[in-house]
Formats: sequence, structure tokens, C-alpha cells
Amino acid sequence: MPPVETKQDIQYEAVIGLEVHAQLKTASKIFCGCSTKFGAASNSQTCPICLGMPGVLPVLNRRVLEMAVKTGLALHCKISPYSRFARKNYFYPDLPKGYQISQYELPLCEHGYLEVALPAGQAGESGRIKRIGIRRAHMEEDAGKNLHEGLEAASHVDLNRAGVPLLEIVSEPDIRSVDEAVAYLKALRAVLVYLDVCDGNMEEGSLRCEPNLSLRPVGQKEFGTRVELKNINSFRFVQKAMEYELRRQEKLLREGGRVVQETRLWNTEKEITVVMRGKEEAHDYRYFPEPDLVPLMIPADLINEIRKTLPELPDAKRERFAREYGIPVYDAEVLTTSRDLAHYFEACVAMYPQPKTISNWIMTELLRELNNRGQEIADCPIPPERFAGLLKLIEDGTISGKIAKAVFEEMYRTGRPAGEIVKEKGLVQISDAGAIETLVDDVLGAHPNERESYRQGKTQLLGFFVGQVMKRSQGKANPGKVNELLKKKLGEEKK
Ligand code: ADP
Ligand code: MG
Ligand code: ZN
Repeated sequence: MPPVETKQDIQYEAVIGLEVHAQLKTASKIFCGCSTKFGAASNSQTCPICLGMPGVLPVLNRRVLEMAVKTGLALHCKISPYSRFARKNYFYPDLPKGYQISQYELPLCEHGYLEVALPAGQAGESGRIKRIGIRRAHMEEDAGKNLHEGLEAASHVDLNRAGVPLLEIVSEPDIRSVDEAVAYLKALRAVLVYLDVCDGNMEEGSLRCEPNLSLRPVGQKEFGTRVELKNINSFRFVQKAMEYELRRQEKLLREGGRVVQETRLWNTEKEITVVMRGKEEAHDYRYFPEPDLVPLMIPADLINEIRKTLPELPDAKRERFAREYGIPVYDAEVLTTSRDLAHYFEACVAMYPQPKTISNWIMTELLRELNNRGQEIADCPIPPERFAGLLKLIEDGTISGKIAKAVFEEMYRTGRPAGEIVKEKGLVQISDAGAIETLVDDVLGAHPNERESYRQGKTQLLGFFVGQVMKRSQGKANPGKVNELLKKKLGEEKK
């Protein structure tokens, strides 16, 4: 009898596409002159246009167009010479006009891609760099915000955000795992921040991500039914929400159920996704061309002008770092997540030309200090020359690598140079042969039993002796020399 295939045997594969909304860093809103500054008193940054009063007319902010084109070019998109705005109709209290001005059938940017570096062991057969398609990127206005706070049994609407420019960037469903999705989001954020078109702050909502997720049996071509997730405001939550949702779908499918196409919200407290609404279709929005704005015709000259303003982007920088400095692609990816971090790395290398050593220190010690304090590289109290100074002390044997880590922490805390700390705390490495011999002899004298075992062939005890000597020297003995001398002395006893 042939084996019966049960749903338990099926291997599922995730299919993910991300919709990202990036607030563009313009001083004023997309269709009026109101300020976009975050955190002002509710409704203080509004006017008849962004309040949606009858009879007013929107005018496109040129800076929005420039930033959108710039981003489209950076994402290798085709910039449409002819595009237009559309009305997306829906009713919600934070949308006073009853429609959002967006783009629909003729978006500004289409058919681009973003290359993402994946940590070793995760990449598909295409290697360590994966190209993820960008379906479209279009301009639109943000809505206001409903506030449900205070003691009254009432909700309030703050329209300061209404009319803040957004760029919606929609990926192709090319993403195959949560790790890839997070890597894509980080890479996209890096591009936006490099271009200086978005501050990338997810907590403040300047960057928002709506993942679409589905599962399909490995080997099947057709996609499964997708679920869209909303309401996620940090990288950590994006990751958790996607992991939860894929587990939920897998369980459902294994139990013979079906995924329903719907929009779900991430509940931060319960760490689950819950249904928000059934999936709306495009026709629910009754899109039609925005009659109050002329179509956009973008001359090739303008595109070329904007192209000239593009800085070296993260993927070009990453590729250059890997090539020029001979560091792994993954290191290069981490180091180029921000322009400032990349600059810091290069400044360190200029003063201490050992790129891999610097990369290791930055990726472990420095990033740990920054993360622990929730700081950016701009807040780092150790200037590159002092960082290089520390590494030179290791290289010339003044301090051991282990001590250097403690010195680094002290440098970070106090902002003082390494040499000063080493001198003051007496951390100079003991390399003097006589001093090391004394330490070694003390340790050997204190452990006759272990010496006997070593003599009888238990040579793995070498590590134990080295550890004891290091301990006795408070970590200051030169480990290479300790090793050498111990081996010699123990070897002689053996004979
Ligand atoms: P809508 O505008 O209705 O949300 P789109 O076709 O623009 O629909 O797709 C939205 C996102 O969903 C895109 O990022 C796309 O890559 C992704 N997507 C489409 N189909 C699937 C699927 N079956 N599984 C996962 N993601 C999908
Ligand atoms: Mg959608
Ligand atoms: Zn306004």
C-alpha cells in the first residue's frame, strides 16, 4: 500500500511581500504649506487644505516629488515620465476629506529592486546577496491620528499628520523567510536614511511596515492566500508578528483548515495577531484620477539632475567595503547600515589599517555599547583616533585582548584615551620573562596533583594551568608567553 500523505508531512515555505510607508522629510506638507514637525500641539499645524474644507485646492510640494524620484532611482526603479494622482475613497474620522490623495494606476516609480545581504547559512542558491523586487513606489498623503486617551469617554482627532508626505514602497512577494524580511526592511531603511529623505524612526511612525504573508507547500508554484499585518511599530515587533503569523497559518493548514484573506493587527501585549477586517479590494476604494491635480510629466532633464545628487548608497558601499577592505560581505552590510557608522569604520581604518580587526571590534564591543544605551554612532564618546590607539596597545603587546575589552568599556564610560586608563589602573601586560616564570612556578607548585596527571598523559590540562596563571596575574600576563613557558616546563617534567 502506498504511504498516505498527511498534512503533517508537508513542508511549507513562506511567501512574504512588504508594503512600507516612509514619511518624507520635507519641511511642509505635500499639498499645503503647513509644517510637518513631529510632536507639536494637536491640530496646531493645519489649514483649510489639510483639514479638507470644501472648495480648497491642493498644490504639489516640489520637494516631495524630488525626494520620491531620488528614492525611486536609488531603488533602481523606472521613473514614469507620465504619472498621476488618484483618489482613494474611504471613511474614517482621521481622514476629513473622505478620500486620500494617492497614486494608483500610474505610479511614479515601478519595477525596481533592492539587494540585501544575508548572514551566512541563510542565503538561497543565489549566494549571500539576494535581490528583492520593488513593484512600485508612489507618493501619497498621510492621514491624521485618532487619540483614545484621557478620562473622558471620547476620542479625539489630531490632524497635524494629515497631509504629511508619504512614499509607499511595495515589494514583490520575493521574500521567503522572516529573517529575509527583516534584512530587507533594514536595508530599505538604510537607503532612505542615506538619501536623507526619511528619518527611519519606526517608533515615531516615520517608517511603517505592513507585511503580507502566506504559506505554500515547498515545490508548489502558486501562492497561498495571504494575510496583511498592520499596527507594528518596531523592528522587533515586525519580526515577532511575522513569526507568530506564519506559525498560526502553518497550524491552520496542518489541521486541514484554510487561511482567510484578511487584515490582522499585531497585539503587542498578548503577542498575537487578531482580525481587524476582511481584505478590502481595490474596487472598495472607488479609485479615480484626482481631478484637482494635473498629471505629472517629468522631463528626463529633471531625472538626470536628481540622479546627480545620489550619494554612494548602502549596496555600493557594502560592495566596496568587501572588495577594498577584504572583509566578509556580512560585516560590510552591518558596517554600512548607516552612513555615520560606515564613516566611523573608514576613519578607524585610516588610522589603524587592519580592517577585519576593526570590523570585529565595532560589530561586537562598540555596537553592544550603543545598543545597550539606545545610542547612535554619533553619540559614541570614543573618536576613531582613540579607538585606533586602543588597538595599537594590543598590537604592541602593552595589553592583552581581554584587558582591552575592559579598557574599551572604561573608555566608553569616561571618554578618556586608552593609554591613560591602562597606566592609571596598572593594566600593562606582563611580558617580562622573569615575571612570567615566577607566576608559572607558583602555579605549578600549587598544583602537584594536576602536574602528576599531566605527566601521565592528560595533556588537556594545559588549558587549566594557563587559566590559573592568567588568574593569578589578574589577566595581565601575556597569554602567548604563558602558554609557551608552561608547555616547556611541563614537557620537561614528562621526560
Ligand atoms: P494590496 O494593495 O491589495 O495590498 P498588492 O497586490 O499591492 O495588494 O500586494 C501587496 C503586497 O502583498 C505586495 O508587497 C505583494 O508582494 C504582496 N503579496 C501579494 N500576494 C502575496 C501572497 N500570496 N503572499 C504574500 N505576499 C503577497
Ligand atoms: Mg495592501
Ligand atoms: Zn495645511
